[in-house]
Amino acid sequence: MGIVVQKFGGSSVADVEKIKNVAKRVVETKEAGKAVVVVVSALGNTTDELISLARQISPNPPEREMDMLLSTGEQISVALLAMAIYALGHDAISFTGYQVGILTDDSHTKARILDVKSERVLEELDKGKIVIVAGFQGVTIDNDITTLGRGGSDTTAVALAASLKAEKCEIYTDVEGVFTADPRIVPDASLVPEITYEEMLEMAATGAKVLQLRSVEFARNHGVVIHVKSSFTGGAGTVVKEEDKEMERPIISGVTHDTGEGKMTIFGVPDRPGIAAKIFRPLAAANINVDMIVQTVSYEGYTDISFTLSIDDLLKAENIIKGIVEELGAKGYAHDKGIAKVAIVGAGMKSHPGVAADMFDVLAKNGINIQMISTSPIRIACIIEEKHVEDAVRALHDHFQLSEEAVTSETL
Ligand code: ADP
Ligand code: ASP
Ligand code: MG
Repeated sequence: MGIVVQKFGGSSVADVEKIKNVAKRVVETKEAGKAVVVVVSALGNTTDELISLARQISPNPPEREMDMLLSTGEQISVALLAMAIYALGHDAISFTGYQVGILTDDSHTKARILDVKSERVLEELDKGKIVIVAGFQGVTIDNDITTLGRGGSDTTAVALAASLKAEKCEIYTDVEGVFTADPRIVPDASLVPEITYEEMLEMAATGAKVLQLRSVEFARNHGVVIHVKSSFTGGAGTVVKEEDKEMERPIISGVTHDTGEGKMTIFGVPDRPGIAAKIFRPLAAANINVDMIVQTVSYEGYTDISFTLSIDDLLKAENIIKGIVEELGAKGYAHDKGIAKVAIVGAGMKSHPGVAADMFDVLAKNGINIQMISTSPIRIACIIEEKHVEDAVRALHDHFQLSEEAVTSETL
C-alpha cells in the first residue's frame, strides 16, 4: 500500500475546530486506500509563547533545556490529533520524535537529522493505524531531546517520507502554495505551480519561510518531491522537484525577504593573514550560522568586518566577539538589529545579464540604501534598513512583473 506523508503547520492546528478539520483530511486520505503518516507542528503560536516564557527566566537559557521545553508543543498536537481521528472512528497512534527514532546530532535548537529508524512506524501502518509523529524534534545518540530549528516540522516530514519511501510528501499550510512573494506583503503575488529544488533552496535561504531550508536540502538529496498545499482549500498548490525540460524558466521566480537577521561589525581589525579565521572559527564552534560577510578596504593596516546572522544568535555571538576584539586588539564592535534582507531568485537570470543592475536601480529609485550584497548564479540578495523592506519587496515584485495580472496581460 502506498504511503502518504502529510504535514500540518501550526496555523493549521491552531484551535480545536482546525484540529478536527485536519483529522477529516487525514481520514479522507486513509479512506482513499493510503497508509497515512501525519506530522504536526505545535498549536498556533505555542512555540513563540514557550520561547517567551524561557526568555523571561533567562536571556540566554541553556540550549539543551530549551529543546526540552520547545518539544512539548508538538507533543500536545499529536495527542489531540490522535483523539480527533479516534472520534471519527479510525485507529490512530501518536509518537514523539524519540519514539520513532529520529536520530539527530547534538546541535541543540538547530539539530540535523542523521537517521530515521522507521520500523515502528511501518509496524503500526501494517496494523492499519494512522501514524502521527511530532514534528520539529529528535533525539541524540545519548537520548537527549533536540529540536530542528524554526520551521523544523517540514524537515521531519521530508525525512520520514525519504525513510519510508513514501509515494507522496504533502506540506499543508495557511497559504495555497509557494508564491512569487510573501502573500502577506504582496496580496497579488502569483502562485508558482512548479519550482526546482535549486530555486526553492535559494527562496528558503533568503526568507520564504513556507518551507524550512533544511527540508528542501533533504528533499533534493533524497529525491523527495514536495507538494505544498493549503490546509483550508483544495487547490493544486506547488510542486518542488528536480528541473525537467518542460518546466517554465522565468527570469525571476520570486522576491523574498527576511527580517530575522541582525548585523555585527568589528571595527579596526588589524589586517593580517588568519584574522578572518580567528573571528569565524569560534562562531562556527558555537553553532552560529553566519550569512553575509563584508570586509572593508584596509586603511593604515586596519579593516572593518561586518557579518549577518540570525537575531536569535546575536546575544551568543556578542559574548564571543567581546573576547575576540580583545584578543585581536581590534577597536570595538557594534550590532544592528534593524536590518533586513531582500532577494530576487530565478534560474533564468543565469542567461540574462543586467538583472542585478535592475534590482539596484529599483532600490535606488525608492530611496533605499544597500548595505551589503551577496549573489549566487540564481540569486541576488541585499541587506537594507528594516523599515524599507516591505516597500522594497513590492517595488521589486512590480518591476519584474510577477503579479497575477502582469503575467496574464503579458500572455494575452
Ligand atoms: P506553517 O505554520 O504551516 O509551517 P509558516 O508560517 O511556517 O507555516 O509558513 C507559511 C507562511 O510563509 C505563509 O503564511 C506566508 O506568510 C509565508 N511566506 C513567506 N514567503 C512566502 C512565499 N514566497 N510563498 C508562500 N508563503 C510565504
Ligand atoms: N513549532 C515549530 C516552530 O514554530 C516547528 C514548526 O512549526 O515547524 O518553529
Ligand atoms: Mg513552517
